[in-house]
Amino acid sequence: FDNVKKVYRTEFYEVRALDGINLEIEKEEFLTIMGPSGSGKSTMLNLIGCLDKPTEGEIYINGVATSGLNDDELTDLRRDTIGFVFQQFNLIPTLTARENVELPMIFRGKSEQERSERAMELLKLVGIEKEADRKPVEMSGGQQQRVAIARALANNPEILLCDEPTGNLDSQTGKQVMEILRVLNEEGVTVVLVTHDESLKSYADRVVRLRDGRIINVSSAGN
Ligand code: ATP
Ligand code: MG
Repeated sequence: FDNVKKVYRTEFYEVRALDGINLEIEKEEFLTIMGPSGSGKSTMLNLIGCLDKPTEGEIYINGVATSGLNDDELTDLRRDTIGFVFQQFNLIPTLTARENVELPMIFRGKSEQERSERAMELLKLVGIEKEADRKPVEMSGGQQQRVAIARALANNPEILLCDEPTGNLDSQTGKQVMEILRVLNEEGVTVVLVTHDESLKSYADRVVRLRDGRIINVSSAGN
């Protein structure tokens, strides 16, 4: 982030969601973003994920200035580099776990066999291969979040963006989801996690604290 500002303008008011963010996230880092409601955490993730654009400043991903990319290039970058995991698992209710995980691979034109094999491999990785043919409503919250993580990994992203992934889970199940993120990070995935939960700080290499759209503190593991 190079002096990134984000202003949301509505008909009646303006919100300064990010107010001059400077931050370098390292490759293979586990970075946690914390801060009160409305401090700009989700806005930061959405900008990294190229779901939205800064009002001012520049976001570089792998050294590439994202403001210089056209819509097709942004779509490619999103699809090939970035995975998203949300608080509400955002699974397609009419599809099974396996079909949900296959979805991003369909958009990428992978063959049916390749999709199915990769989906099973990912469901195994997150420990729910037995639930492959269940629909979201037939699974617990923790199981649904594992499906969402498997889906986010479908295209081998370099960066995994997680917005309150444990927010709807009990603490035990939340820890299991965090363990999965920890293993993925050890295998080389850059993880950017937004959370309110102070007990999850220990997973991070660094914790960035936001208030009113500004970084008020950055601390490294153990500090
Ligand atoms: P929470 O912990 O509640 O999820 P957050 O830190 O993720 O909060 P953001 O969602 O980034 O906060 O929002 C930052 C500010 O921008 C808030 O004041 C919010 O109301 C405002 N905001 C976010 N998205 C929009 C939008 N699409 N239109 C207008 N204002 C927005
Ligand atoms: Mg948020």
